Amino acid sequence: MPNLLLTYKCNRNCPYCFAQERQNALNPDDPGIISWKNLVIAANYFEEAKDPLISVLGGEPTMHPEFISIYRYLLARKFTVKMFSNGMMSHEKIEGLLAALVPDRSRFIINVNQERDRAGHETKMQGQFFSELGMACSLSFNLFRPDPDMDFLLDIIGEYQLRPRIRLGLAHPIAGEPNEFISPEQYGDISETIAQFSKRCDHQGVILSLDCGFTLCDFTDAQLGMLLRSKANLKFRCGPVIDIGPDLNTWACFPLSKLRPQPLEAYPSLSALRKFYANFIVEETRKRGFAGVYKKCEPCRYRKRGQCHGGCRSYAFEEKN
Ligand code: SF4
Repeated sequence: MPNLLLTYKCNRNCPYCFAQERQNALNPDDPGIISWKNLVIAANYFEEAKDPLISVLGGEPTMHPEFISIYRYLLARKFTVKMFSNGMMSHEKIEGLLAALVPDRSRFIINVNQERDRAGHETKMQGQFFSELGMACSLSFNLFRPDPDMDFLLDIIGEYQLRPRIRLGLAHPIAGEPNEFISPEQYGDISETIAQFSKRCDHQGVILSLDCGFTLCDFTDAQLGMLLRSKANLKFRCGPVIDIGPDLNTWACFPLSKLRPQPLEAYPSLSALRKFYANFIVEETRKRGFAGVYKKCEPCRYRKRGQCHGGCRSYAFEEKN
């Protein structure tokens, strides 16, 4: 289901950031935070879709000045609230979250960076968050270089007794914006890194989940076997995620956020909005003769069988960058 952005503000500066341009455009007239009115409208859409899950993110969602009240409000409406955060917040906010927590319906997915991409205070603040809320936290890590060392993720899970889950995201190009991402030429290297890491996850009972845009043929049979043994969630998909911004403007996903953004209220339901983006992306990629990130995607039997979508569709729009 779609993501709801509470604010574009962030207190970190990650090289792969999807929201950098929006953060740079913030000004006193447009502080980039969701109003209560818009929050209620968006929550109504989720409720009408009979979806008990609402994913909130940013920027950094906890930087919304009324974040704790918003968090309480969404829980009071009986949503399960999955919050994507960097875990860097004041002690008062941590206390506020602890007081609001509904164990069955509160989930925090904390994005952490490797030490070389982390400021000293980041480690300290995230440690404070994990100490207090670790039982509701799992980790997320974005791959934007081909040679990451991910063992530190297992150390954090062990030290703070986090939920044994890691979401691995692959950084993709963002149409019209500079960012760091892994190009398809490097996918083979990253697949080996992930497969080797999955062996260590297996020993520690940690489940890996691959996010969108991974490509099936870049994993060897042996690598897929390692991932299967470790019970990793494998997806080789690309489809509209749908993000709803603080102003209720929506887009298919961050890499395609410049292409035909749509106002939420122009659609009667989230399913109607999803249908628009699904059709739009299929049409646009077909027009560009794009079947996947490789030439071999066109005749590929895995693509024809729906096992792989051929990587991230943002590559279809590269000439517009
Ligand atoms: S669709 Fe493309 S990326 Fe996916 S397995 Fe086939 S050739 Fe590889």
